[in-house]
Amino acid sequence: MASDNAAPTGLLIIGASQSGVQLAISLRALGFEEHITLLGEENHRPYQRPALSKEWLQGEVGNESLIFRSAEYWDEHNVTLVKDQRITEIRKNPDGSGVAVAESGAEFPFKRLALTVGARARKLAVDGADLAGVVYLRNADDALALKAMVGDATDIVVIGGGFIGLEAASSLKKMGKNVVLLEHGPRLVGRAVGEATAEYFLDAHRSRGLDIRLGARISRFVPAATHDGGKAVSGVEVTVGGGTAAGGAAGEGTGAEGTAAEVIPAQIVLVGIGVIPNTELAEQMGLAVDNGIVVDSHALASDGTTVAVGDCANMPNPVPGSPAGERIRLESVNNAIEHAKVAAYSLMGRREDYAGIPWFWSNQADLKLQIAGLSMGFDQTVVRRDDERGKFSVLYYRKGRIIAADCVNAPLDFMAVKNALAKRQNIPADTAEAAAAVADPAVQLKTLAV
Ligand SMILES: Cc1cc2nc3c(=O)[nH]c(=O)nc-3n(C[C@H](O)[C@H](O)[C@H](O)COP(=O)(O)OP(=O)(O)OC[C@H]3O[C@@H](n4cnc5c(N)ncnc54)[C@H](O)[C@@H]3O)c2cc1C
Repeated sequence: MASDNAAPTGLLIIGASQSGVQLAISLRALGFEEHITLLGEENHRPYQRPALSKEWLQGEVGNESLIFRSAEYWDEHNVTLVKDQRITEIRKNPDGSGVAVAESGAEFPFKRLALTVGARARKLAVDGADLAGVVYLRNADDALALKAMVGDATDIVVIGGGFIGLEAASSLKKMGKNVVLLEHGPRLVGRAVGEATAEYFLDAHRSRGLDIRLGARISRFVPAATHDGGKAVSGVEVTVGGGTAAGGAAGEGTGAEGTAAEVIPAQIVLVGIGVIPNTELAEQMGLAVDNGIVVDSHALASDGTTVAVGDCANMPNPVPGSPAGERIRLESVNNAIEHAKVAAYSLMGRREDYAGIPWFWSNQADLKLQIAGLSMGFDQTVVRRDDERGKFSVLYYRKGRIIAADCVNAPLDFMAVKNALAKRQNIPADTAEAAAAVADPAVQLKTLAV
């Protein structure tokens, strides 16, 4: 597998996760005949991440169900799986071939290179950040560490009201823990959803008993001595301002000045404040990098030979009809899969566009969010809600055309918008009458697509 002076051969995929796995599978499906090395730094067989904050954390599914493919599958498809090797240097020739060097000193020669290196958890730099009990949730080791601690904990603080924070907080609450979720911003889920969806989630989670505090300013993690002489986290010192106080209903703002600092008890602090794309190897190779590895619509990096796929890649907005030059970095399973298929074509010498419409899901307690399309740049929204049935959707428009929808427990709305986008149809809402029809949950959205 590794060799000092071996001639460049085959394809080396750095990053053995959703994108890397899909790239290898798609290449074999397309008839790619050269040898493939699928290499990753984690000491696990490639696994799916989404359940780590949901079903797996709650013990509803076991480790094996997360594994992508069996060892036999990789053998049969002539893919060498390399675990536990972190690539730290890439020496590349102008023809695209080269050698990747691991921290261990092992060398992996390649004829073509794919970077599917994903992203890593953003760290929170406050006093006490290195105390035992302060954890993140990006990979299996993080998840195993969290699970090992959960049994003994009664109080958990989750920092970050994005998808991972909300999913994990919902799971931990379901597991009987006292959970307080602290969000720095004035609303949940940052810019990933619009205001109406963020408000809906805030109300829905609070009405399910989750203690969410917005406008939270964390000053430090409070240490306590452990029986073995070490230090572990025992609480989070926080000032809450611009949002609502503990257990308060939405709208009971405490003012911009904030409350006096308080310490919220916690034996575990789970930090979920977003990710940083892993671009260091690309930078070292001289590839263009800008919030991810810059790629064209065929997943080719700026050298024209390396492909970069998934969470690590910054690509042209793939939605048909989106403004020229608009770029985006997506963090989702669907994107990793579709983007890998595009890259596989490129490695086969074909140029194909991203097929399908980007979509995303997030399960939080009984709230099943599905997002179709990309809402960036919207200038109009229409809300459809059916509180009796617990359904809620927001449709996003740009210049009169539907571009996306957030749908909570509303799979038919999700499918209607996803299909309309794929067929380049509109679900018009440009007159009061049309908008009223879109907003009416008794009207099936698919009947409005034109
Ligand atoms: C807890 C959790 C829940 C999620 N839930 C959902 C969900 O519900 N829906 C959804 O659509 N998406 C979800 N996601 C996001 C989804 O899992 C990611 O978008 C997807 O994993 C991206 O795949 P990737 O292969 O591009 O990157 P990653 O999964 O980040 O994989 C990159 C791999 O490359 C390895 N690597 C990096 N640098 C090196 C190096 N120098 N040498 C060797 N190896 C390296 C990393 O260790 C990693 O294994 C979730 C993510 C997490 C963490």
